[in-house]
Amino acid sequence: MRLEEVITENGAVIIEPGEKVEAGSVGTWNIIYTVGEKGVAINGKIRITIPFGFSRPKLFKLPWDIEDIRKGIGGPTEPGYVSVKASNPETKLKLSIPVIPKEKVGMLEVWGKNLFITIKDAPLREGNSVVVTYGDTSFGSPGAVVQYFEQTVEFTVATDIYGDGCFYLVKNSPRLAVIGRKVSYFVVIIPSKIKEGEDFPITVVPRDKYGNATYKYQGMPQIKSDEAMRGSFELKGQHGRSALAKFSSSGTYRITAVDKDDGIVGISNPIAVTDKDNNDLNLYWGDLHVHTGFSDGLGTPDEAYRYARDISKLDFAACTDEDNESEIHLSDEEWELTKETANKYTKPAKFVAFPAYEYQDHGPKGTGHRNVYFMIDDQPILRHRDGVDLLGLYNRLKARNALVVPHHSVAMGASQVWNYHNPDLERIVEIYSIWGNSECRGCLKPHIHAGYDYEKSVQTALAKGYKLGFIASGDCHAGHPGYSDWLRWFRSYHNGLAAVYAPQLSRRDIWQALWKRHCYATTGERILLDFKLNGHMMGEEIILPKNTPREIRVKIAGTKVIKRVDLIRNNLQVYVYKGKSWKESFEYIDREDLKEEIFYYVRVIQKDGEMAWSSPIWVRPQDSLSAKS
Ligand SMILES: [Zn+2]
Ligand SMILES: [Zn+2]
Repeated sequence: MRLEEVITENGAVIIEPGEKVEAGSVGTWNIIYTVGEKGVAINGKIRITIPFGFSRPKLFKLPWDIEDIRKGIGGPTEPGYVSVKASNPETKLKLSIPVIPKEKVGMLEVWGKNLFITIKDAPLREGNSVVVTYGDTSFGSPGAVVQYFEQTVEFTVATDIYGDGCFYLVKNSPRLAVIGRKVSYFVVIIPSKIKEGEDFPITVVPRDKYGNATYKYQGMPQIKSDEAMRGSFELKGQHGRSALAKFSSSGTYRITAVDKDDGIVGISNPIAVTDKDNNDLNLYWGDLHVHTGFSDGLGTPDEAYRYARDISKLDFAACTDEDNESEIHLSDEEWELTKETANKYTKPAKFVAFPAYEYQDHGPKGTGHRNVYFMIDDQPILRHRDGVDLLGLYNRLKARNALVVPHHSVAMGASQVWNYHNPDLERIVEIYSIWGNSECRGCLKPHIHAGYDYEKSVQTALAKGYKLGFIASGDCHAGHPGYSDWLRWFRSYHNGLAAVYAPQLSRRDIWQALWKRHCYATTGERILLDFKLNGHMMGEEIILPKNTPREIRVKIAGTKVIKRVDLIRNNLQVYVYKGKSWKESFEYIDREDLKEEIFYYVRVIQKDGEMAWSSPIWVRPQDSLSAKS
């Protein structure tokens, strides 16, 4: 939500050049403000927000040693140097970048660094102009460096025309479209599960060296499969980077896309081809944690869903903008639009979107962050900032067909994250996102939040008897659900994904599968993971006579070689399977007598460091008095 009002009498602003720019390129831009009918008084201010990801603005500071320029140090020689000029020679302009206390940065500088221009000596009158040169090269600065991720960004301009501290936004702040660079690799996406003889789509997404989807590539890659030699793969048609194919025999395969001229290659995710009569569940991929400009992310829910569906080729997604204690929160109007957009994009068998938002409770007794998802439309938003505490949230959601999903439990401001739990609403936990891994102390890909605390890990919740299945998602703030590693202004881990075993791609089926915990988490790779215990699926709770051996069967097809698979029982590693290829399977039989309820899950680690986690399976001995309910 934008806090400041837009008015029209405070002038207009443009950026020159306004053409698209490549991610990571260097340039110089003039931001030209033309004064409106009310003018700008002495001590009035113009504020320009330089988007995060672009060079931080640097100023000419006095007293300032000419020696510094000679040595190539100091603001005027650095990337992002800013200068300013007024058309009216009597007016003097003072540039400043206030230092904001760290704890307030999130509230005052959400999308970028604020640059202030104070009007001195003579007021600005209607029609006067102020030209801010960002990336001014006059004193040796190379210019300003563009952010490394593609996205249209706004250089938000606001004015305080009377010098009374009240800022109003200028109508139509200038925007710059940042686009991908030349192609560096292909991401090849195919469904994870199909039947033999069934046509399936292949999508080749060209990406640049920073991981941006790029439209600079207009070639037609060659699509291949080793199965073609055996006559079981048939490419049925190809139009540019989209194709249709089929496999006529069951097995687990991958497909390669190559452009020999450009030396570009990509290997698809694995696909499990089952025989015709197989009625196993299908496997779908999604990102259930996405922020947009409705809170502190970039872009709109419309753009996010389009990216999820068309670029990342996800099956389902959810925009989860924030109910935040800071001023940047989802307004009532934006909540209505969030629900409307989720409905608009939900098309059975094509794409599913859920109405959702992020409930946040920070502070010394904070219960942390939980995303709230609705199965049905037209539900009210229940905000912590409006006085709904976590117990109140549970109570009011009880009869509403909602899912509540805690995330990055190890982060700061969530000391009481696991003090509360509602087993009817909290069926799953987000174990991994761009922020990192919340699984357990000593885990790979540890959290990047300062002050994280693994006392509050996912394993802590499991040890308390909470029956939580696992998903991973993005928490991406750059508007790129399903494929990103940008947290708006710095790079982190890769966007996680949620894998869901469901009969069909419909909102109801995905919902029920999440509720049943028939889901697993990955660090973004479409790794196939099948984890069964005595024939039961991941996420299930079963009861067995206490001397029944638990036969665990694990089947994996990775996107790279599987390095190891850890079998975890009650948070302890009881077996490590060492892999050699991208397809692995093993069995493990636990013959120990069941004394109390126990749970098992597996953690998969590929050679390239990418990971997957199955949801746990809980086993309770029959007639056990000690079992946790
Ligand atoms: Zn959060
Ligand atoms: Zn979030």
